[in-house]
Amino acid sequence: MSAKVWLVGAGPGDPELLTLKAVRALREADVVLIDDLVNDAVLEHCTGARIIPVGKRGGCRSTPQAFIHRLMLRYARQGKCVVRLKGGDPCIFGRGGEEAQWLREHGVDVELVNGITAGLAGATQCDISLTLRGVARGVTLVTAHTQDGSSLNWQALAQGGTTLVIYMGVAKLSEIREQLLAGGMAADTPVAMIENASLPHQRECRSDLTAMEQAASDFQLKSPAILVIGAVAARATTTLWEQGLPAMTADQSA
Ligand code: SAH
Repeated sequence: MSAKVWLVGAGPGDPELLTLKAVRALREADVVLIDDLVNDAVLEHCTGARIIPVGKRGGCRSTPQAFIHRLMLRYARQGKCVVRLKGGDPCIFGRGGEEAQWLREHGVDVELVNGITAGLAGATQCDISLTLRGVARGVTLVTAHTQDGSSLNWQALAQGGTTLVIYMGVAKLSEIREQLLAGGMAADTPVAMIENASLPHQRECRSDLTAMEQAASDFQLKSPAILVIGAVAARATTTLWEQGLPAMTADQSA
């Protein structure tokens, strides 16, 4: 493998949800820069790589992104095979795009490797089908946290008819609830809040839009968690089918 940086998604936490390509990159890596949300268990695939934690707990507080950029560049220029390992997918709220661009601008070869993003994993682990036929026509991934403080178009989200999957929302439950209600979303819209998705200590809290903040507080919901908002988040999707939605034919349920 020639000297380059692999921007690799480690998936949501369960080490078995790692891709084969991610495993190959880890096996061949000389240096692995690892984010906080990555399960250390995936490092068993490394064969003697130097492991450098670069998440917030890794000690780079002041300008973390610039620091990480410089580290990647330094090792790549030394001819090392560098893996930048991120939670979930590197390009879903993971800065994969900006890191890839920056590295390419500095003459470094970059390869991106998908990971299973937490929003999709969390839903599936809780038996939520994000685009359940006849119930949701799509899914929208959003972050409740923006660096520049800019606001989402909540009305469009509330009325778009897609399932909402919200990242980084634990500290913003009040705003999310208020904005979606103000945007016209039904107060009894089901909500699922999934903490530590795919890990042995995964927890899920089901509620509805009006009660979600209280429910999360009673449940002591903590980050990392994703929110799934929409009819598909009802406790049992079988109930949705019982409510008169089209039954699956034998070949669709196969
Ligand atoms: N690139 C990552 C997202 C990073 S943003 C991905 O694709 O999954 C960090 C946010 O992701 C957290 O605040 C939380 O909302 C979500 N998250 C990451 N891992 C999670 C997990 N195991 N369970 C629930 N949410 C998770």
